[in-house]
Amino acid sequence: MNNPEPDVRQDAGDGPATGYPGASPGPPLAWLDGELTALQSQNRLRSLRVRESPHVSGLLQLDGNRLVDFGSNDYLGIAADSRLVEAVRRAVGEHGWGSGASPLVSGYGVLHRRLEEELARFEEVAAVCLFPTGFAANVAAVSSLCGPGDVIFSDQLNHASIVDGCRLSRAEVVVYQHLHTASLGELLQQRSRFRRALIVTDSLFSMDGDFAPLQQLAELARRHDCMLMVDEAHATGVWGENGRGVAELKGVENSVDIRVGTLSKALGSIGGFVAGSRALVDWIRNRGRSYMFSTAIPEAAAAASLAALDIVRSEPARRVRLRELIALLPKLVERTRRPTAPGLAAIPSQIVPWLVGGESQTLRISKSLHDSGFFVPAIRPPAVPPNACRLRISLSSAHSDLQVQRLAECLNRIGPEFGPH
Ligand SMILES: *Cc1c(COP(=O)(O)O)cnc(C)c1O
Repeated sequence: MNNPEPDVRQDAGDGPATGYPGASPGPPLAWLDGELTALQSQNRLRSLRVRESPHVSGLLQLDGNRLVDFGSNDYLGIAADSRLVEAVRRAVGEHGWGSGASPLVSGYGVLHRRLEEELARFEEVAAVCLFPTGFAANVAAVSSLCGPGDVIFSDQLNHASIVDGCRLSRAEVVVYQHLHTASLGELLQQRSRFRRALIVTDSLFSMDGDFAPLQQLAELARRHDCMLMVDEAHATGVWGENGRGVAELKGVENSVDIRVGTLSKALGSIGGFVAGSRALVDWIRNRGRSYMFSTAIPEAAAAASLAALDIVRSEPARRVRLRELIALLPKLVERTRRPTAPGLAAIPSQIVPWLVGGESQTLRISKSLHDSGFFVPAIRPPAVPPNACRLRISLSSAHSDLQVQRLAECLNRIGPEFGPH
């Protein structure tokens, strides 16, 4: 892999750093204890916390505390909407629960079809292919469109599911510097050595909250005869006049050949999808292994997504409200404390990274915010490089001005030893 800088996401899961199975006697999985202890000593061992309350938009009951939730992807406050709950109840009554098989066998029901049709109408494309998750959608799209003899140009900070799709494709993968279209332009000189080529990018990056330069990428794709794939996971429902994403916002939808969206973030439901031409969808249904060899989601889950899509279409005020909060937070945070790391979003989004640096420091700030009543997750490797740990503040239209104000006050109070770079 041509990798300008070590990409921590690509190291995750690469096997043990210590411990040599077979070198010492004992049960076959004994080496795991050593590995887990090593993670623990680096402050990298993740553990689950149980959410004790039903999901309520903007709030969270965790470890016995009621917290304002700045850590969810429920950007429009839809996940807890009673219309989704009611749609599920009705659909379960009519269609039951499990779908029983892959969509290609017998798992494809009327609500799956209706959701694909409604999504195609919403996205203004010819066809949509529905997946159990956005992760599965990315893996299927990338790995079915490229193979040996092809080349994929992939942004350094693309989501793990795109990275995995690239690996599975067995195509040549060229990782380009984050957002850097000039260096991508140079790397594209090699394009002619390959059969087919794909440029793939997140539209809104999940850890940095910055936008991909879609106009320039579209121009490069056209000039160098590449397919262009854009993952709108954090933008579906949120960005663009109608909520179709960053490609809509930037007016380049017609230049994006493969659009991926998720139903599990701003739509507050579950599932992912690929949107594009009829041929694209036919191909993915026939070649996308995470589609073909995986069970269809329950129809009731599709019913929840249909209800969520209705809300996205009929209540644009949620998007307007979210944009107000996106504009509000930076005004409340003292200028000297604003994250100013190079490459950080010039145009802010609903994902606000607060760069800290080291792991233990980041965990300490997250804990102190927790003690003040806010859930703001600490983002650590392998999600980000080792010295780029950060808090990630996710805004939702469900937050009140007061909640955002109080959060800003806490951020402003954080001692200088905790300040961003
Ligand atoms: C969350 C995410 C996905 C995966 O979507 P799920 O529906 O949660 O599986 C894909 N791409 C990006 C950029 C994401 O942030």
